[in-house]
Amino acid sequence: MNLRPNLPPIPFIDLAAQRRRLGHAVDDAVTRVLNHCQFILGPEVRAFEAEMAAFCGAKHVVTCASGTDALVLGLRALGIGPGDAVICPSFTFCATAEVAALVGATPVFVDVDAATFNIDVKGIPGAVAAAKAAGLTPKALIPVDLFGLPADHAALAAAAKAEGLLILDDAAQAFGASTDNRRLGIFGHATATSFFPAKPLGCYGDGGAVMTDDDALADAMRSLRVHGQGSDKYDNVRIGLASRLDTMQAAVLSEKLKIFPEEIDARDKVARRYGEALADVAIVPSVPAGLTSVWAQYTLRLAAGKRDALAAALKAEGIPTAIYYPIPLHKQQAYKSYPVGQGGVAVSERLAAEVISLPMHAYLDAPTQDRIIDAVRRALKA
Ligand SMILES: *Cc1c(COP(=O)(O)O)cnc(C)c1O
Repeated sequence: MNLRPNLPPIPFIDLAAQRRRLGHAVDDAVTRVLNHCQFILGPEVRAFEAEMAAFCGAKHVVTCASGTDALVLGLRALGIGPGDAVICPSFTFCATAEVAALVGATPVFVDVDAATFNIDVKGIPGAVAAAKAAGLTPKALIPVDLFGLPADHAALAAAAKAEGLLILDDAAQAFGASTDNRRLGIFGHATATSFFPAKPLGCYGDGGAVMTDDDALADAMRSLRVHGQGSDKYDNVRIGLASRLDTMQAAVLSEKLKIFPEEIDARDKVARRYGEALADVAIVPSVPAGLTSVWAQYTLRLAAGKRDALAAALKAEGIPTAIYYPIPLHKQQAYKSYPVGQGGVAVSERLAAEVISLPMHAYLDAPTQDRIIDAVRRALKA
């Protein structure tokens, strides 16, 4: 007998619930843009950049067309190019390494820490050595604040200083998260983030931004996003790209930023409940002292081999899951020829076989969460 009648499917991320909460605010903001017709770098872009800077404490915010472009703008402004090595984790979304190759540099992979999923700072000297052995000049480090949790930025700053590396933080999943009450955006030389709809702060299309305290870097990125423009439109001082945040997306983001602190709290409550209810059946994510996460993903670790059965059992009950990431970058066809740090990337390989992410968003109510928790517990205890 089936004691669980067919319940409606649960969304992995519920953008519709957020849209209902925002009410007319977004529609009105978009309508204002439709009426003034300044679709590229209109007043809403400048306003949102100022709001974002106030929110995270960075001196400059330069918005652009995507998180990937934000990383490209950062690397280009930092002067990274052919012959340079850019050290980044293997356990991340492909864009982290992709951007190094896009600017003509070479990604060099370093391992991550199993407890935080973030870059293992101890692996950096081995990655520098591997880069040099490959005839490259180690120039930059792209740590990732994976799944919304800040990397160990104090340790990263020390390691980067010791090795003479620039830091471009990939906070695509973690804008709003903090370290010792300081939000991401102020660590390293520059910080990139993404407003892809599924990120904690998402727009209604593609978008991204780079944050920095460095005036010269900000100027270079503002020029790069408009074809390397100099003093005016027809003065071209560098090879750039066409990468702006649409005015309409800036208008949407200004409205979403207003409710973002409450959403971060709501996400944290969901994560705490998951953690309390599931710690005895899986390895639940932990947040080191002094850090906050914005929970871009809520990711469990299971003994390798148990994951597919859990995903199938949950799917049968209308509960979606996702695997971030099933293949570490050093094993991907596009990236497997790039160097790996001398310490190896064994943890990245192990995590790729163990991780599974549960539905996570700010509007996941307690009854829905209980349904997920109950299903996960039954599947893992069976
Ligand atoms: C999403 C993401 C990006 C790229 O952002 P887009 O806006 O999709 O280009 C880069 N790095 C990480 C870690 C991401 O999760």
